[in-house]
Amino acid sequence: MNMARKKILWQLYLPYLLIIILTIVALTWYALWAHKNFYIQQMAAGLKIRATLLEKPLAAFLLSGNMAAVDSLCKEAGHRTATRYTVVLPDGTVVGDTEEEPARMEKHHTRQEISEALKGKTGFATRYSNTRQVTLMYLAMPLYQDNHFLAVIRTSIPLTSIEESLSSTRTRMALGGLVIAILAAGLCLIVARRITRPLELLKAGADRFSLGYLERKLPVPDTVEIGRLAEAMNDMAAQLDQRIKTITRQRTEQEAILLSMAEGVLAVDSDERIININKTAAGFFKVDPEAVVKRILHEVIRIPSLQQLVGRIFTEQHTIEAPLVLPDKFPRYLQATGSILHDVDGRAIGAVVVLNDITRLRELENIRRDFVANVSHELRTPVTSIQGFVETLQDGALENHEDARRFLDIIARHADRLNAIIEDLLSLSRIEQAPETAFFSENICDTIKNALQVCEASARAKNITLQIENDRQIIFKFNPTLVEQALVNLLDNAIKYSKEDDVVIIKVESDTTELRLSVEDHGIGIPEEHQTRIFERFYRVDKSRSRQLGGTGLGLAIVKHIAMAHGGRVSVISRPGEGSLFTLHFPLK
Ligand code: ADP
Repeated sequence: MNMARKKILWQLYLPYLLIIILTIVALTWYALWAHKNFYIQQMAAGLKIRATLLEKPLAAFLLSGNMAAVDSLCKEAGHRTATRYTVVLPDGTVVGDTEEEPARMEKHHTRQEISEALKGKTGFATRYSNTRQVTLMYLAMPLYQDNHFLAVIRTSIPLTSIEESLSSTRTRMALGGLVIAILAAGLCLIVARRITRPLELLKAGADRFSLGYLERKLPVPDTVEIGRLAEAMNDMAAQLDQRIKTITRQRTEQEAILLSMAEGVLAVDSDERIININKTAAGFFKVDPEAVVKRILHEVIRIPSLQQLVGRIFTEQHTIEAPLVLPDKFPRYLQATGSILHDVDGRAIGAVVVLNDITRLRELENIRRDFVANVSHELRTPVTSIQGFVETLQDGALENHEDARRFLDIIARHADRLNAIIEDLLSLSRIEQAPETAFFSENICDTIKNALQVCEASARAKNITLQIENDRQIIFKFNPTLVEQALVNLLDNAIKYSKEDDVVIIKVESDTTELRLSVEDHGIGIPEEHQTRIFERFYRVDKSRSRQLGGTGLGLAIVKHIAMAHGGRVSVISRPGEGSLFTLHFPLK
């Protein structure tokens, strides 16, 4: 806070106090002055009356030239009235005085009061008398007889009494003034406090507001102006609170939308500093969204194609689409769409990039392309063979019966294979196209038994035992035909890839969430790097071996789609040389 600022209390109080003290001093001074004036006027009036009383006898003595009588009258009357009388002739010669011998006195016409009287007026003077060691007040007036200027009569009395009276009055008034000043100072302080107290409450309230506590209202004092101020501040706080809440809510909503978007969103300002990055985008670039905000883009996300894209948005000023590859063990492919970010006034303030993860799309596209190529390839092999042998037969091999039979057998085998592939392809597309297959509540054990029956012959051919573990009666909703087909495919593989005289175990397990159906063999197993891919169509670990065993490469793809049609999945645990465990997981609703 600025130390030069003064408290309003002092700003109000000190000037008040000063005004009061000045008023009291002025009043006291004026009262003293008036008091003194009154006294002096009274005294002057008294002196004049004294002089007037002696006018007649003095005139008589002066006219007759009896100066001794003049002097003795001065002395006698003076002593009786405690007044000093002096009579001075027009030339300044003193002819009578109460206290001195006139003969010894110098000429008096230069005394101020006397020179005034000589001019025909009444003269006044107050002077310190060296003779009497007191301050005296003098009055001198001309004495006329029939318009004839005879002399000047001067009367004087000491000012001692009036000075004593004045000084005691002065002390009393000063004391009174002091008491009044102290009382007034106290009263002023109370009044000033009463004015400033509500202001201080307002200030405390405003401080609370500034700290963000907008809900507690200010007390409204009963002074009109301050009351209005408090109301206005309360209204302002309420509006502010409302606005902050609205803005916070909107912000939270926007953030929630950004956060939950599957697309990545990244916004930068014109200095390429990150303004906003949502969770998805941060996940793509493996950065902490909070840590990178306000940082320069290329310092925290080192992907040159992203920087180029942002650069192009700024230079080309329109929407730009570009692919981005995130380098990783399994690279991810993003489709980025960038555009200029405008503020409300339409000024360009940055750029926003929306990122779509198209890795899965690319994978699907690749799978589809591979599938078409694979189907063609898979179909072409048997067809080419059939064509070849038919041509050989046409070219004369028919003549040789033995050859002809052998060739026809081969043709039949390739035709079977074509048939098997076509059957499997049709199965797959049926399952894919009608996922909402008819489900029935049935006992899973019946389906397992049916599947075992189908595979019995091929198992017996390799002297393989098919063994069911914990064949509990579990009834749930499923499509028996499809689950049987899945089981047959798994059993078929287990038998195919097991050695002779082995055991294949079928297990049924369930808990509250899912039913697990597994087929376990102790055959050749599957190397780890193939395990994720064997469920793809036509994917085989060993092509020639599979073909030799009559496989189409579609069996596990069918199994996977059957599991998916039931809302479930298929998993594999396998070790080369030790065997494989395939499990179908069906969720129990
Ligand atoms: P196929 O018709 O070739 O058996 P599948 O889709 O059923 O095609 O299986 C794909 C590949 O997975 C097979 O070629 C084989 O390499 C491997 N495979 C499947 N089941 C087993 C198993 N029980 N043991 C070892 N390898 C297996």
